[in-house]
Order: sequence, then structure tokens, then C-alpha cells
Amino acid sequence: MNAQVLSGIYMHYYSVCQRKMWLYDRGITMEQESDRVLEGKILHENAYNWLSQKEIMIDNAFKLDAIDGDYVREVKISSKLTKADYMQMLFYLYQLDLRGIKKKGLISYTKERKTEEVVLNEVAKKKIKTAIAKAYKVLDKPTPSPISNMPYCKKCAYYAFCYASEEEEE
Ligand code: SF4
Repeated sequence: MNAQVLSGIYMHYYSVCQRKMWLYDRGITMEQESDRVLEGKILHENAYNWLSQKEIMIDNAFKLDAIDGDYVREVKISSKLTKADYMQMLFYLYQLDLRGIKKKGLISYTKERKTEEVVLNEVAKKKIKTAIAKAYKVLDKPTPSPISNMPYCKKCAYYAFCYASEEEEE
């Protein structure tokens, strides 16, 4: 594992595909992924301009988009990966909870113009603790998890990387 501690993006990638998280950790970054990250960065920079608490770094470990009263806020381009977005938000809420800060989460989807609330109850806490432990195990492995072969692969920035041998065969 390259990173010293997990960040929210790790939890997002873990929820989408364990292999994707492993590749990202090892510094394998695809151009398309950089574009997507840049797109997200621009979105984040322009969101929540009415809030004073934006882009908050916690213990040099992870960054929150914004804090709005009792809520941690995240903005996403679309709701295509809601489970991963949910797990990423749970990760933030859990990390804050470990530091004695109780917050709820709001994820805003700009394309669909909707906002989802996320609450860190006991069930959710158990879920995120298990996911974190499993993510560390995946990252400790010397090789990436197998290709997941799911519909999302075609949209994934690592598609060409993962399916390179198949493309050669075509
Ligand atoms: S292309 Fe598929 S298998 Fe490869 S990293 Fe992306 S989601 Fe995972």
C-alpha cells in the first residue's frame, strides 16, 4: 500500500471496484481519470460559495467539501454511483465521529438537482468499519484484484488498462 491512511476517494473507488482502488493506490493514473478529477475539482471549487467553511482538511488525512451547520456537504456531477458516494460520505462521517465530531451528510447531485441525506447510525457505522478493514486488506495485496467484468468497466478510466489484452485480440 502506498498511502499511509485511506482517504474518501479510496472508499469511493473501493465501492466501485477493488481493483480500481488498488491501481489508484499504486499511482497508476489514467488520463481520462485526471480529466474526471479536474471536472470534479472545478465543480467543488464553484459549489457552496455562500459557505465560509469549504475545502476543510482534517488531520492532513482527508478533505471535506464543505461544512454547513450539522452537515458535511459533498457535491457530485451525477447520481450514477450513489452507493460509492454514500460510502465516501459515511467514511467522512465516521472519521469525524472518531474525532468526537457528530455530523450528518448531504450529497447534492447537480445533474439531477437532488440532495440525499446520509446518517451515521450504528448499522452504517458497522458497514463503514467493515469496508475500511476490507479495503486495507485489498491494498496490502501485492497484486490487484481480478478484473470485475461489470457494465461500469466500459465507463471506467482504467478500461483500456484492464482490457488491453482483449483489445489486442480484436
Ligand atoms: S475497468 Fe473494470 S475492472 Fe478495471 S478498474 Fe475499472 S471497474 Fe475495475
